[in-house]
Amino acid sequence: MKILIATNNKHKIIEIKNILNNDKIELLTLSDLSIDIEVEEDKDTLEGNALKKAEEMYKIAKIPTIADDTGLFVYSLNNEPGVFSSRYAGENATYDDNCIKLLNAMTNIPEENRRAYFKTVVCIYENDDKYNFFDGICEGRISKKKHGEKGFGYDPLFIPDGFDKTYAEMSEKEKNSISHRGRAFVKAGDFIVNKLLN
Ligand code: IMP
Repeated sequence: MKILIATNNKHKIIEIKNILNNDKIELLTLSDLSIDIEVEEDKDTLEGNALKKAEEMYKIAKIPTIADDTGLFVYSLNNEPGVFSSRYAGENATYDDNCIKLLNAMTNIPEENRRAYFKTVVCIYENDDKYNFFDGICEGRISKKKHGEKGFGYDPLFIPDGFDKTYAEMSEKEKNSISHRGRAFVKAGDFIVNKLLN
């Protein structure tokens, strides 16, 4: 079965392909279908953005489409950056700009108040008006400086519970096994195998 992943983010495509590794599923990306459209993520919830992206791309591709939206929620910052995680330091912010802004916002916040979680919402849009959501959460804390070179986004700052290292110090396999996106896509993968393929 052909399924479209509605993203152009190379890191995410690799992560998702590893998680949804099933020989009955042929995962296509936007570039495989020569779709060159950016969907504006202008909703104020992860669900709203995931649904908007999945629905708009489904309407073009006409095959079941998966889209996801993720945010990093820091408790002591009133859950910021949250749904605005990609644009925390401004419209064209780089991953590094966002990390620096977060570190600066938390300069005086002590260890015990640096708790945060990542949340991913995946939307699978099957056909007109038929869609389902799957979520995944990973709790942890924000380190006081960047550690590690792997991954992307806020990975060098996020230490998941049960570890003394950041996501950016983990192999892809290790990160996927505990990450917010890993957990959401395992649920989405079960749904694809048990409901969509049957
Ligand atoms: P998106 O909705 O998946 O594009 O995620 C929004 C923003 O959250 C990204 O631009 C990243 O800054 C951040 N983000 C999403 N997933 C991760 C992750 O696995 N690690 C670190 N940062 C992430």
